[in-house]
Amino acid sequence: MVVVMKERATEAEVDAVVAKLIEMGFDIHRSKGESRTVIGAVGHGIGDTQLIAIQDGVQEVLRITEPYKLASRSFKPENTIVSIGDVNIGAEEVVVMAGPCSAESEEQVEATAAAVKRAGAKVLRGGAFKPRSSPYSFQGLGEAGLRMLRTAADRHDLKLITEVMESSQIEVVERYADILQVGARNMQNYSLLRDLGRAKTPVLLKRGISATIEEWLLSAEYVLAGGNKNVILCERGIRTFESYTRNTLDISAIPVVQQLSHLPVVVDPSHGTGRRDKVAPMARAAVAAGADGLLIEVHCDPDHARSDGAQSLFPKQFEQLMGELRVIAPAIGRSICVEPVARRGWSR
Ligand code: PEP
Ligand code: MN
Repeated sequence: MVVVMKERATEAEVDAVVAKLIEMGFDIHRSKGESRTVIGAVGHGIGDTQLIAIQDGVQEVLRITEPYKLASRSFKPENTIVSIGDVNIGAEEVVVMAGPCSAESEEQVEATAAAVKRAGAKVLRGGAFKPRSSPYSFQGLGEAGLRMLRTAADRHDLKLITEVMESSQIEVVERYADILQVGARNMQNYSLLRDLGRAKTPVLLKRGISATIEEWLLSAEYVLAGGNKNVILCERGIRTFESYTRNTLDISAIPVVQQLSHLPVVVDPSHGTGRRDKVAPMARAAVAAGADGLLIEVHCDPDHARSDGAQSLFPKQFEQLMGELRVIAPAIGRSICVEPVARRGWSR
């Protein structure tokens, strides 16, 4: 960090700041200019930078390295690719994960899985443990839902992503899922993140409803620090003053995260907008901006869905969107499921 002293800071104040930085474990480079002193603090010092900011004579403290380490690109310059069998997230192909908000019945899960597979999705999404804003809303089918999702995923050769809401669920969800989703409301559930650091299954970490990118990356750091290197970030919209859409999808988070971190970043335009008619334009924008994947809600009968029907695409809309994305991706050197339709499952 760099500590800029006030113009009228006394020698004693500068000495006190230097002493404090040395106590925190930093190496010090003092530079005395015509009007003020600037102190460079380098090395592996630890402590609250605010403790320096409140010292007498200090004008401002500028941090020059990120507060997270394992998640940062300076620590690991090459992109992380999270591989689940033959599905690689963070590589050249943009991976599309799609399915219902919640598993509701065997028929609903099966029909949706068949439809998203045909259109080119590689991963089935669906919640069995649902974080709902109201305790009176549908809370998910629990393990029965996990079973339905796994069966449908296997039948259609799809990987499965589903949400884990608390540490006590990790064991059961890991038995069924290929990727563990941490929902926006849980991004700052640090004990869950710590426990997921010990899990063997990749984790998709959604951005919190009002989280800064730095807070989001610090949450990823919890999982990485626990030993789980397979973390995928997911931008799903943040809360702003705008009320037309459910959230404000922060497309700029994609290039920002890609600069700061080596972790793959995917986008959820369904929760990002909350409106079916706005999902496709934002999905197209996300791919154009360089997202490594998409997480999209699709339902065979969205108007009767038990959760998030208004933002769920009809299978036909999803299929059309996938066709559009296949045109957009090559413009930035990416691809989206170029397998022939027959191999994607028309014949089943
Ligand atoms: C979901 O994916 O269905 C979900 C609940 O998402 P979020 O945590 O982003 O609200
Ligand atoms: Mn949902």
